[in-house]
Amino acid sequence: MIITGDITELRAVRWADRSLSWGLVPTMGFLHQGHLSLVAAAKDANDRVGASIFVNPMQFAPTEDLATYPRDLDRDFQLLRDAGVDLLFVPDNESIYPPGFQTTVSVADISRPLEGSTRPTHFQGVTTVVAKLFNIFQPDRAYFGQKDAQQTAVLRRMVVDLNFNLRMVICPTVREKDGLAMSSRNAYLSAEAREAAPVLYRALSAAAAAVELGERDGDKLRRMITKLIAAQPLSQIDYVSIADALTLQEADQIAGELLLSTAVYFGKTRLIDNIPLSVSSAAG
Ligand code: AMP
Repeated sequence: MIITGDITELRAVRWADRSLSWGLVPTMGFLHQGHLSLVAAAKDANDRVGASIFVNPMQFAPTEDLATYPRDLDRDFQLLRDAGVDLLFVPDNESIYPPGFQTTVSVADISRPLEGSTRPTHFQGVTTVVAKLFNIFQPDRAYFGQKDAQQTAVLRRMVVDLNFNLRMVICPTVREKDGLAMSSRNAYLSAEAREAAPVLYRALSAAAAAVELGERDGDKLRRMITKLIAAQPLSQIDYVSIADALTLQEADQIAGELLLSTAVYFGKTRLIDNIPLSVSSAAG
């Protein structure tokens, strides 16, 4: 595995043989099985796999956890080497944001609800850095996790709107045995909060099961999820959403492609989770 923070060196490796296809897995490091599932999917479909580790300051608000975001580069290198990554990009802040930097990419409407309502500058940071990574690597395919559902919707929009010549591949959420979605931020949870945290997936799953049984009232389903999560004394709900999967607008009546999602604080740690649902318009 070649590890570099140098964009010129990276491009030389990437373009050494133009006949080879490349998959790219962008990350912020402190890797877990969720990240490695993206690498495995990329290995399956491409001749070569590139990954990046960059804790992107632009996607953190000043009040957020940039300084304390968990990091363990040596462990990450080993995991990516073992997973068969060919080229790892680990840039410093100045390579990504050179002096005088003033160009950003933002996706208007779908960046605003859900995560955007609590984190209004977050997606501009994500789209700017991912656009840069796409330009730096020029991958044939780029791999992202369903875990960050709104991020995938925003990035898909960006790829279409800005004509990026690559295919977006979205991989399913990898979970712990008790259902908790794997996340680098799970490392922040106290023992009590870790025990309580699987309630997110339990509550979303209960609502998904109710939809399977024919429930079509968005408000009822939102109330069901809210009640289940609020029953956990350590939880503080940020949002519970049942929205159209493409527009992310809240749905009154359940039909078509939907996203059930939630964000919940356990102390200072904010966890997100979601379940995508496809509901045929025929009576359930
Ligand atoms: P992050 O390092 O948190 O920025 O995540 C890097 C990529 O891994 C993003 O595309 C995430 O959506 C994806 N990812 C994070 N957690 C999971 C998970 N539990 N299952 C699948 N993909 C994940």
